[in-house]
Amino acid sequence: MSFDINFENRIRALLLEDYPDFEKAISGEKISALRINPFKVTGLKNEVLDDLKNADIRITNEVDWEKNARVYSDGAPGKHPFHEAGLYYIQEPSAMAPVHYLDPKPGEKILDLCAAPGGKSTQIACRMNGEGILVTNEIDKKRAQILSLNIERLGIRNALVTNMRPEKLSEIFEGYFDKILVDAPCSGEGMFRKNDEAIDNWSLENVALCAKRQKDILIEAVKMLAPGGRLVYSTCTFAPEEDELQVHNLISMGLKPLDIQLFDGMERGKARYLESILNDGALSAISHPQDENNSLENIDKDLLDSSLSKCSVRLWPHRISGEGHFLAAFEKAGDITLNKGLYGINGKLKTVNSDDIKSFIEFANEFLVDVSFAEETAKRSDDSKGDKKNKSGKKGQRGAKSLVRIEGVFSGTPFMFGEQLYLAPEGMPGINGLSVMRPGLHLGTIKNGRFEPSHALALTLSKENVKLTYELSEKSMQFIGGMSFREADMQNGWYLVTTAGYSLGWAKYAGGIFKNHYPKGLRIYT
Ligand code: SAM
Repeated sequence: MSFDINFENRIRALLLEDYPDFEKAISGEKISALRINPFKVTGLKNEVLDDLKNADIRITNEVDWEKNARVYSDGAPGKHPFHEAGLYYIQEPSAMAPVHYLDPKPGEKILDLCAAPGGKSTQIACRMNGEGILVTNEIDKKRAQILSLNIERLGIRNALVTNMRPEKLSEIFEGYFDKILVDAPCSGEGMFRKNDEAIDNWSLENVALCAKRQKDILIEAVKMLAPGGRLVYSTCTFAPEEDELQVHNLISMGLKPLDIQLFDGMERGKARYLESILNDGALSAISHPQDENNSLENIDKDLLDSSLSKCSVRLWPHRISGEGHFLAAFEKAGDITLNKGLYGINGKLKTVNSDDIKSFIEFANEFLVDVSFAEETAKRSDDSKGDKKNKSGKKGQRGAKSLVRIEGVFSGTPFMFGEQLYLAPEGMPGINGLSVMRPGLHLGTIKNGRFEPSHALALTLSKENVKLTYELSEKSMQFIGGMSFREADMQNGWYLVTTAGYSLGWAKYAGGIFKNHYPKGLRIYT
């Protein structure tokens, strides 16, 4: 592996006598891991790991900062049907550390600002356990689509996936979020072992460009953080202009460094790293600081060093079992309890009544278990008890307008987005002014009075949630490839197709055939 000489000299300047250890580690094998999805697999069921072992995937050690993760070697878990069933997300161990320090909790309002392809968003969602609101944003449309598919694959119900520039998002969400993750676009030095493209794209100019962009993104992120809220900044690079310098920037923006604990092998960031690079004209990416704030004379090195020794983590590939990463955690002054509870902003969602979604109610009554519909009379000023439960989905008795709520296996407010029926999680913000890729859980399509369930609905359900299931076992990859199956004497209707008992998609049985409803765009032909 050969690196740009500037990169090598910079890392030598940081690591001094440790450089040979780094060089040896970075020339070795990349570390791979997977994170089991607790929405689908409870308690790291051994049978899932056993099935992977049977597919020649060697599960080795655990990851200290993520209890659901396992390091693996050999094999290709990305090609196993369990991957398409969303039983796990493939993510290297260091990339799982920022979410550990974000410490997401059920019921919070959380933003993942630079989220595609969704490794950290799916990890955040798992820790939120379906409660609260996760706004997961990606600036690049194609990448936002991949993010949206990963949210779907893992069966996440409480995510609003957006495709926006940070400065547009901050116009809407000022002071809104309890927690924000900024996993910034960076020069990717920590991925050199994993990704040749990162090596080819490296240049001092790109480091400078990334540093400037990171500061711009952080300005917007800080605006969106509620008083008392937590912000975690992370990169997968070693460049001090993108790591230590951004810590200085965040402190200058008024954030307070948080005291966080290290796991074995983790190290702190250091003001010395920034100094040794910026002091050397040949090594520094910022030979002409973009603003005064970035010049060494204007940085309080003692303050920076004491902050870094509390709030930052450097994951070096020669010190831990993982790729290179940096993170730092901060808090905004204020009382976070004043931001408690979920509330919509920016207008209400246009909800539906039971007539609008009659075909879905019929589908739910016929094929789902434990789903009920509550009708709420539109509120009058003196009316606090206008709710009426109605399993058949008939209109409520009082008031002018009924709004349907769904309860049971999943709960929330259904609403239409064109022909698409979604379920907004409790407290989802209005979507006016947002460029939205996925507003909550996609239930299905209502067209000409007929309901067709979505793939997202299948992936959020378990076999206990439906009346009809069709287990495929060794035929799973054929189903993923789009094949329909012949079978005699089955009951007509919608079947949740499963692989080893885990949902994989829908098939509709009629006339002796299970018609395959696996989305065409997701099919894998083997
Ligand atoms: N957090 C992701 C994960 O764990 O899967 C990885 C995020 S990646 C390091 C950074 C992302 O930031 C990229 O998807 C990139 O498209 C996006 N990005 C690029 N420029 C941006 C900008 N100006 N503002 C916000 N995000 C940007």
